[in-house]
Amino acid sequence: MTSMIRPKKREYHMTPSAIISRKWNQRNPDKIEVVKQRNKNMRLLVMDILGGRVCVTCGYDENTRALQLDHIDDKGHEDRYHFTNIWSMYSFYLKNPEITREKLQVLCANCNTIKQSENNIYQMSRREQK
Ligand SMILES: [Zn+2]
Repeated sequence: MTSMIRPKKREYHMTPSAIISRKWNQRNPDKIEVVKQRNKNMRLLVMDILGGRVCVTCGYDENTRALQLDHIDDKGHEDRYHFTNIWSMYSFYLKNPEITREKLQVLCANCNTIKQSENNIYQMSRREQK
């Protein structure tokens, strides 16, 4: 269904799910804060499945806002296309803890950035767009 959505000119860089989210946000401005809080809670629950709110590389655990869910195989872009929104992605990972432990890990923002730069993820995704 998502492929039937025709993006506006300024939306061509966005995934179908991001376009759907933007349209929903425009229609439901009063619900945005509730949804944001729900997604934050779900993100923390996914981290709990993965063994806790702590970076697996360096052990950082002071502030959960600096912790990120990282795709071990660097295929996060596939998830962004596969799931309609962040809620459906978190729901899937909460319902399937085995898959979650297989695919995701908790990294702090520093370790995640270092991993991405070592794996050349930014350059790869730029190359794919051309
Ligand atoms: Zn770290």
